[in-house]
Amino acid sequence: MSLSNKVVIVTGASSGIGAAIAQVLAREGATLALVGRNVANLEATKNNLKGTKAEIVVADVTKDAAAIVKQTLDKFGRIDVLVNNAGILGAGGLIDLDIEEFDSVMNTNLRGVILLTKAVLPHLLKTKGAVVNVSSCAGIRPFAGALSYGVSKAALDQFTKIVAMEMAPQGVRVNSVNPGFVVTNIHKTFGIADEDYKGVLQRAINAHPMGRVGDVTEVAEAVAFLASSKASFTTGALFPIDGGKH
Ligand code: NDP
Repeated sequence: MSLSNKVVIVTGASSGIGAAIAQVLAREGATLALVGRNVANLEATKNNLKGTKAEIVVADVTKDAAAIVKQTLDKFGRIDVLVNNAGILGAGGLIDLDIEEFDSVMNTNLRGVILLTKAVLPHLLKTKGAVVNVSSCAGIRPFAGALSYGVSKAALDQFTKIVAMEMAPQGVRVNSVNPGFVVTNIHKTFGIADEDYKGVLQRAINAHPMGRVGDVTEVAEAVAFLASSKASFTTGALFPIDGGKH
């Protein structure tokens, strides 16, 4: 299997795309550190994995980078891949911008990624490892009404490209996947009411040229590819998984 003997940290492994990434990486033989704040959900992800070593790391990506690295090393002794998947949505445009929500979105989607990547990097240099960031098609193309989120993901994309250039001579690859709309809890936890969700989903279906939204596994398979040596000559790439929406 393509990730046998590789130790992979997956943030946001307690739900949605992150849980699917854990499933696919486990199938590929990876050893997993499953990071998130919700213990019960992390346990559910872990219990769904078959035939792989996995450890739960209860941590907040905005402030626990050092602890995530320490617990992974204490348990598994090395780090080969970091998947920065944890993320949150933000609402509205500039006129109705809630600056505290903007700070929170940037803190999770960008600053948390930077802090954890910086903490993991010395270990990736030892293993000639890889980083895969879960961005969004909203990082590539502007959508009115998603200011905080779009700005956070566009900045994340530039972070991906810049760190890829910095690390390329040292053999560490850095790439992102940029999904379109995928049905997960993110839209509900963000506050879209049940009665509005149907309309949101239909508009999302209409907005994708392929006439449907994505599935968590479609994102996870691309993450597994970019994490593996099959992508050994790929770095600084943004990989849209959005039915042609970008
Ligand atoms: P979910 O809400 O299902 O999952 C989000 C995950 O992020 C949860 O596991 C949550 O874990 C974790 N998380 C959030 N904040 C923190 C934090 N501070 N510390 C640690 N973990 C955190 O959403 P998705 O699976 O949809 O989202 C995953 C990624 O995919 C995000 O980066 C999102 O922007 C991106 N994406 C999603 C799209 C979609 O349509 N669903 C489209 C494009 C991109 P916990 O609650 O346990 O802390």
